[in-house]
Amino acid sequence: MKISISEVLREAYRRGEAVIPDGAVATYIPELGRADKNALGISICTRDGLHYGIGTVDKRFTMQSISKVVTLIVAMERFGVGEVFRNVGMEPSGEAFNSLIELDLKSNRPYNPMVNSGALTVTSLLVGKVSFESLLETTRRFCNDPEICLDETVYRSELANMSRNKSIAYLLESKGIIQSSVEETLDLYTRMCSLSVTARSLSNCAVLLAMDGVDARGNELIDSRLCEIAKTIMLTCGMYDESGEFAVKVGIPSKAGVGGGVLSAADNRLGIGVYGPSLDDKGNCIAGKPVLAYLSRALKLHIFDPNDITAEIIP
Ligand code: GLN
Repeated sequence: MKISISEVLREAYRRGEAVIPDGAVATYIPELGRADKNALGISICTRDGLHYGIGTVDKRFTMQSISKVVTLIVAMERFGVGEVFRNVGMEPSGEAFNSLIELDLKSNRPYNPMVNSGALTVTSLLVGKVSFESLLETTRRFCNDPEICLDETVYRSELANMSRNKSIAYLLESKGIIQSSVEETLDLYTRMCSLSVTARSLSNCAVLLAMDGVDARGNELIDSRLCEIAKTIMLTCGMYDESGEFAVKVGIPSKAGVGGGVLSAADNRLGIGVYGPSLDDKGNCIAGKPVLAYLSRALKLHIFDPNDITAEIIP
């Protein structure tokens, strides 16, 4: 029996909604604590640029760690893959996103660009060379959303409460890994985290990555090799210390942020953006896992599923 995309979305929503009470909104950045815990939105963008959505798909929220994907791509474009990965590794850390233990004890290089230590390192490469305004423009282009802007309130709230990131950044400087200004690095990193997106704009960026950097009009916005690298690192490290379980159960390269967003790029098929500020204990949208695991099964989106049935289900 053929199921429709709206039925699939309704069931995904139902499964996500069921786990929302088990999570909590982030409060370590006080402004994020004001989010509506019960909000949930799921947006799908097809390779032809068509949107299907349910719930809170147009509400603006800050992208937080999802910006690490944009920053990584821009750094690779600007400095080359070799130079970026001379400074940061490609391995999952198995630790929380804001951990500095493994960095201090086990390595002289952050494990990967998806955790804070790695993203701060990548950001430090951009300081003085790529302006915030140009990164904002790039984010708008990748998300096909000209209304993305800096959420000043969240930005100020994080700046006033970032002892942890300061510790990481100064540790990186002490090890000679950050060589530009630590204060400017922290500022640029925090600005990128404070860009306001929607589930719909995340689905646009996700489909761009899924289609190897080519948009629905056929324009190449990102080099395909860089998309391949970004997606691989999202798959292995994008959900922090639950990346392994997520890869098994969902199998879609994804990146989450503590603002509640998840960007999921189903290779060659479609892009998904989820918004749900109730987070699990790893700091990922708690509804994201059941929502995406269900979508992955129903639409056959797992990276190792050879059957592409999206054309049958999505008109
Ligand atoms: N701005 C947040 C931080 O640095 C981003 C973390 C996240 O989204 N996981 O702590």
